[in-house]
Amino acid sequence: MPSKPAASSSPVVKISRRGAQRLQEGHVWVYRSDIVTATGVAPGAAVGVTDERGKFLGTALYSSSSQIAIRMISSHSVNDLHSLLRERIHAAISYREKVVGDSDAYRVIFSEGDFLPGLIVDRYNDLLSLQILTQAMDADPVRRVVVSELSQRMKPASIADRVDPRIRELEQLAARPSGLIQGDKTCTVITMNGVKFYYEVLAGQKTGAFLDQRENYAAAARYAHGEALDVFCYQGGFALHLAQSCSKVTGVDSSRPALEVADRNAALNGREIEWVEANAFDLLRDYADTGHRYDTIVLDPPAFAKSKSNLETALRGYKELNLRALKMLRPGGILVTCCCSYHVSPAQYLDVVRVSARDVHRNLRLVEARTQARDHPILLNVPETEYLRCFIAYVTC
Ligand code: SAH
Repeated sequence: MPSKPAASSSPVVKISRRGAQRLQEGHVWVYRSDIVTATGVAPGAAVGVTDERGKFLGTALYSSSSQIAIRMISSHSVNDLHSLLRERIHAAISYREKVVGDSDAYRVIFSEGDFLPGLIVDRYNDLLSLQILTQAMDADPVRRVVVSELSQRMKPASIADRVDPRIRELEQLAARPSGLIQGDKTCTVITMNGVKFYYEVLAGQKTGAFLDQRENYAAAARYAHGEALDVFCYQGGFALHLAQSCSKVTGVDSSRPALEVADRNAALNGREIEWVEANAFDLLRDYADTGHRYDTIVLDPPAFAKSKSNLETALRGYKELNLRALKMLRPGGILVTCCCSYHVSPAQYLDVVRVSARDVHRNLRLVEARTQARDHPILLNVPETEYLRCFIAYVTC
């Protein structure tokens, strides 16, 4: 469709050739270094975007402080931002109706992945959790539209605002604590793949649970057998799934509060799981040296590479974990190895696993190369939307 000029009322941001090129390639971000002029544009404004010669490129949300100055929301002019937001929220909800089965907990809105940059919404049974990442999404009228649309369509008991203080600082937004926006219920029980978990909307890491692993939990359970070790178990996501088919399961994490919830989750499902509070690196070294052996090992560490600059250190960390796990797996054993660093590509991570196996003289048969669950949609033109790697492999000898 031919592009129409920006609505006359929208402020205009002019971007460089390099920025325009990036948009032509289908990306939706323009970095600050590619902004030519943004005179008088208010923080968080919806703006028309043009190239240096004034050609209209689309409509974006502007941030006055982030390195990502512009996030595109349309290649057309947008006269009614609020209707567009409502339409996109509706589309995001409808998409989940198609791709999510067997779970009352999933990501409802995944920022760029749902063409709603800066907005993350998770559903945990009857609770919704909102995370706002940009100035534009934090604007009061926008928040009101988001909350009213979610509330009408999903009818949650409560909606909570989960605040990441670091993000608010980066976006130069006033500090604000996490809290309930609507309703007063804060705790619930979610059920995914038939496994139950307690959920508290104002506690825990990220928005509370690692929903992106939901499909990988089910996949891991299909191969898991014998004695299992879930390393970096948090509240027991993998461990509780492994318990469906394993004779014994041990979960390891350095966070005591996480393990306390894990233990309550085990009781909720009538499972007996051994929880060990330890530094995973120390424990794996100890266990490998003292002859512990397993049939199933899951590695799901936090992101070691938060930026490109510490990639080498991160890769060393991932290699050490994989080496130790592979040493402890019996022949016929199964390794489920995950990496949630966007900066480590799937090929790079697979290489870490391959070299680790070679170094400990194990042969691996890759059975599944997986990524994040489908409620975290991946836009091919926005590679940053794909960040989770999960490989499942048999130790053949
Ligand atoms: N597998 C989990 C998510 C893991 S998130 C799930 O599916 O829910 C990463 C976890 O690693 C967090 O629970 C954090 O407490 C833990 N962690 C971070 N560093 C650690 C370390 N050095 N040793 C053990 N656990 C660690």
